[in-house]
Amino acid sequence: MSRATRTPRGSLTLDRLRRDGEAFSIEISREYYLAHSGQKASADLQPIYARHADVTSAEALGVALDAFKASADGSEERRGARLLLDWQVDAQSGRELAALEEREIAWEASAVVSVADGRQIEYEAVAIEIANAADARERHAIEAGRATLVEKELASLRRERFERERDITVQLGLAGDYNKTWELLSGISLEGLSAECEQFLKDTESLWDEVLPRFAKRVLDMTPAELTRADALALFRAREFDAYFPPARMEESISKQVRDMGVDPLAHQRIRLDTGEREGKRARAFCSPVRIPEEVYLVLRPHGGQTDWTTFLHELGHALHFAYMRPDLPFEYRWLGDNSITEAYAMLFDHRMEDAGWLKRYTELGASNIPTFRRSSGFEELHFLRRYCAKLIYEVQLYNAANWDAVPDMYVDILTKATTFRYSRADAFVDVDARFYAARYLRAWQLQALLNETLTERYDVDWWRNPRAGPWICSALFGEGQRELAHEQAERVAGKPLSFAPLVRAVESMLA
Ligand SMILES: [Zn+2]
Repeated sequence: MSRATRTPRGSLTLDRLRRDGEAFSIEISREYYLAHSGQKASADLQPIYARHADVTSAEALGVALDAFKASADGSEERRGARLLLDWQVDAQSGRELAALEEREIAWEASAVVSVADGRQIEYEAVAIEIANAADARERHAIEAGRATLVEKELASLRRERFERERDITVQLGLAGDYNKTWELLSGISLEGLSAECEQFLKDTESLWDEVLPRFAKRVLDMTPAELTRADALALFRAREFDAYFPPARMEESISKQVRDMGVDPLAHQRIRLDTGEREGKRARAFCSPVRIPEEVYLVLRPHGGQTDWTTFLHELGHALHFAYMRPDLPFEYRWLGDNSITEAYAMLFDHRMEDAGWLKRYTELGASNIPTFRRSSGFEELHFLRRYCAKLIYEVQLYNAANWDAVPDMYVDILTKATTFRYSRADAFVDVDARFYAARYLRAWQLQALLNETLTERYDVDWWRNPRAGPWICSALFGEGQRELAHEQAERVAGKPLSFAPLVRAVESMLA
């Protein structure tokens, strides 16, 4: 018997699921925003799940599953139903894991790292402290304190969360295992992307082996064999350029560029900036769309120097995407969908920090420093691409592994081999992005390269200050929300498939 021919379950219809789903998402999103920005010591997620019990009920999952099964392959109904089902699967584990997640958020906001020299450092500020420590011994000491604390307290929380999420997902019985379920719900091939990552690591290995020793020597006075992940933070912090990226000019310069492109950088007050220092604020910047498109927060904790500029550009790309989505799009195209799309827009913005014309016009680098700066950016880009390729390969294998006890060694192996920086076993479950978010980043990287090519063809190399480019971006890209998959958008906008090829070319040209 086909599920589709049954009478609708209870009183929950697809339209009510959308409406209640949006109300639920708004509350959850606001709670995350308040907790991660340090305005609340913890996130009270469980009361929200209780208030919206219908949205994460078995009945809700059933409604989404019925819609998915009843829709024809390739139809618009199937597209929407797949997104709703993907969200429901996530929401089911989200409900069951809410208590665990609250503990994790509270832990992050209050944990303190003890360093051997007697110092106590707020856990959320550790990455900033390590990046700013000029001495390798000091970095390694802080890192040792961090790893000890993480191993003792956070690693088990994270492992439990991912194990339970895996089990809840597989038990729904949608596809054979965790990876196959993710592929069904996302429309993305993990095997295909993993193979591309293996190839990328091979293709760029000799370039990496050639450039890493030079940068490690020049910036840190270290040999590759001495490098740990803590040194990576300091290496990419690139303090030598700080003077050209003054904190006081960041918002003003970047806002001017967005205005030059014909777009209001605050989207008529729909975007609110939260960029000051606040205790308990997450070190990792984020964009929180609380109501889409009406209320979007951009949250950044200042680290100093060029990192903040890159981060601000990235989060502004997200914020503008959410704030310029068409308000009449259904819930699933505004709130759900392939996050490779929003990450691609974020990267389209942050990659201006590799664009000589942009750097010359909107920063204080000056023409003479641009070649050195771009080489350093190319090096950083290559590192992050190699790290994310390795992360995806590891995470795919993680979910294929029968026993997670042996996983920390595999993690250290794969990540260290790809990046040269020595990774710590303590991070095997901490450095995992839930539900293969690394795949979204990698596809975003590929998509932004094609979007940049398209914008250059349409509006010239300085499209970012062409007043006709912004309105086109807002309507042809941002306005569509996340209705399309990244590879569909690549075909529509650029007429090309996603691949690492343009990224390899860009990195090679920056490092030349
Ligand atoms: Zn992002």
